[in-house]
Amino acid sequence: MTLSLKGKTYVVMGVANKRSIAWGIARSLHQSGARLIFTYAGERFEKGVRDLAGTLEGGEDSLVLPCDVTNDEDIEKCFATIKEEVGTIHGLAHCIAFANKEELAGDYMNTTRDGFLLAHNISSYSLTAVAKVAKDLMTEGGSIVSMTYLGGERVMQNYNVMGVAKASLEASVKYLASDLGKHGIRVNAISAGPIRTLSAKGVGDFNSILKEIEERAPLRRNTTQEEVGDTAVFLFSDYSRGITGENLHVDSGYHVLG
Ligand code: NAD
Repeated sequence: MTLSLKGKTYVVMGVANKRSIAWGIARSLHQSGARLIFTYAGERFEKGVRDLAGTLEGGEDSLVLPCDVTNDEDIEKCFATIKEEVGTIHGLAHCIAFANKEELAGDYMNTTRDGFLLAHNISSYSLTAVAKVAKDLMTEGGSIVSMTYLGGERVMQNYNVMGVAKASLEASVKYLASDLGKHGIRVNAISAGPIRTLSAKGVGDFNSILKEIEERAPLRRNTTQEEVGDTAVFLFSDYSRGITGENLHVDSGYHVLG
């Protein structure tokens, strides 16, 4: 099951370790023959990302750059380097989110102002900040894929402020799709089922969410990194050329249940 993206270059943002959804997307993109550029949040992630990139055939030559999405200068510098080193890119995977762990349990109404702003800054606004800068490198058109979760559409226990940030992210996907369509750039989100990652560990009672999917989702199993990665490849490819502003659920069908 391979779709060719040979000759195309994609920026993958948000690899923290091998469990990261961004890493699943990177692997699927690599299998499709795409060239990859990685960005990481801060120094402590650099080695891990470089080592992982090196496990892909030819990956030791991948461009691996710092990009803290809370910092406009960092974003500009990162994409200026990409422009200088690579020139044109064909897409970008935005797999970035953060909220304070203590605000991912209990009542949503206890969210602090700082916690609310932090979650929205990193998990939602960053897509807009990055899209604006990346646009200039997508000279042949492009595809931007962001990651969301059902908690942005309905109340999911403990997801709290992250759910509100995902609702904002999903609205951003639509507005960005509207802005960027005239430049031949598509913007979509993948709404993934729960996957055990570093970020997921922060969500209260995550194991019971996984169990619920296994018992009730139409496909009766949990979502894998590979399923999300392959869907991202579809959204990056011309097979999805008529799709933009969409929120595609890759969640074993769980979202159809009431
Ligand atoms: P992860 O922890 O592996 O990835 C989150 C990434 O966000 C990390 O690489 C982290 O470094 C990065 N990040 C945090 N703050 C940043 C900053 N200031 N600048 C740059 N990067 C920053 O976890 P993941 O589950 O792979 O998360 C990837 C995306 O998928 C997130 O948007 C998450 O909300 C979404 N998602 C996850 C699940 C799940 O169950 N794991 C389900 C649906 C959607």
